[in-house]
Amino acid sequence: MKIFTVQVGFIDTNCYILIDAIGSCWVIDPGSEPNKITAILSRENVIPTKILLTHGHFDHIEAVSRLKEMYPEIKVYVHGEDVPFLTNNPIWENYLGRPLTSASYNVIVNEGDTIQEGELSASVIATPGHSAGSVCYLIGDSLFTGDTLFAYGGIGRTDLWNSSPAAMRSSLKKLFLLEQKLKVFPGHGPASTLEHELLIRG
Ligand SMILES: [Zn+2]
Ligand SMILES: [Zn+2]
Repeated sequence: MKIFTVQVGFIDTNCYILIDAIGSCWVIDPGSEPNKITAILSRENVIPTKILLTHGHFDHIEAVSRLKEMYPEIKVYVHGEDVPFLTNNPIWENYLGRPLTSASYNVIVNEGDTIQEGELSASVIATPGHSAGSVCYLIGDSLFTGDTLFAYGGIGRTDLWNSSPAAMRSSLKKLFLLEQKLKVFPGHGPASTLEHELLIRG
């Protein structure tokens, strides 16, 4: 599996493009700047079929609508608890100072679900805390952690609407029980490994 990282938007969200050996292609968290994302898709000559959202915050979802226009067959996966974030609401309008570019979804994901296509296979790990519907996707030896777990000991904010510090603590415990060799691809900042993140945290 090839992984391309595209930094998008004004808070440098990591959008990931996954492509397997037979050209299956998924996009994780297309937050903004759809042109940057589609430039890679065209260059690699692939048609993405799924968008996996780690959660519903604006900086992870605002390029969904453009990708849906360009690739009408694409299906969007999100946890049910974060669906309210996908449409414009006063929270976003106040925060952004403009209406949100809404995203529509197709499939609700839950803990333990498997999403499979070609050589790509994702296990859904529910990790509430940063938002109630935050999830991580385990794909091969790579863990896409959204705004739950960052490199260098960082974690996502838990002072936002529908955040929970207690839920975040249990979610992080759950992640650190996984195989330590897993690579970590966060929603912001550089990649890491679980082993490294455990070491840093003592
Ligand atoms: Zn977030
Ligand atoms: Zn974010």
